[in-house]
Amino acid sequence: MKKIIVAIDGYAGTGKSTQAKSLAKYFGCVYVDSGAMYRAVTYFGQQQTTDGSIDIKLLIDSLPQISIDFELTKNGQQTFLNDENITDLIRQSKVNDKVSDVASIHEIRSFLVDIQKEMGSSKGVIMDGRDIGTIVFPEADYKFFLTASPKIRAQRRYEEQQKKGIIETLEEVLANITARDHQDSTRIVTPLKKAKDAIEIDVSYMSIDDVFNVMIENIIES
Ligand code: C5P
Repeated sequence: MKKIIVAIDGYAGTGKSTQAKSLAKYFGCVYVDSGAMYRAVTYFGQQQTTDGSIDIKLLIDSLPQISIDFELTKNGQQTFLNDENITDLIRQSKVNDKVSDVASIHEIRSFLVDIQKEMGSSKGVIMDGRDIGTIVFPEADYKFFLTASPKIRAQRRYEEQQKKGIIETLEEVLANITARDHQDSTRIVTPLKKAKDAIEIDVSYMSIDDVFNVMIENIIES
């Protein structure tokens, strides 16, 4: 099958990673969760200090010591930070609350963008995030931008967190999603925005399968 690059961007909780995983399976491509990479760097920064606060200068200086890998296992895709499996640790609210601060730092973005570009150098990649269609792969074969109302996104994310045993109220999830969207869209360095040539899909009232089918139709028909 033709090796393609698909960029999926959009707001928090729109189901980007669910769709990216399904597309990767369908096309036999690699799936890269770029959000997990920002989360991994945030988690690393929190581990560097005794009180869990992030010393930005120390974190920037330590970037060369950070290695992030993904592995597909029977339990789904796992994220490793310097060989430690951090898949669940990076979904905690302490990471949710700080990841957009960390993602607004130029040095950290350029460190991760270089790794992401490298991951797509031999093509055959489906990557989701906030700047994939604009910065990481402006030449992607297909670009999608997912949106949905904040309340619907919060409800979905809340149900996901509950299944994972993460205790958060719906109000906390909504507050975090709204704060991250605002911060991600207004940051000075490469803010979240739709690439001009991305196909926008409002997933508010669509099932997971409906969204997948719209994406596949767009890819196959073009
Ligand atoms: O995708 P996810 O919600 O896990 O991403 C966590 C955070 O990482 C986002 O809210 C955003 O601050 C940052 N991010 C980013 N650029 C990306 C992917 C994620 O700034 N490409």
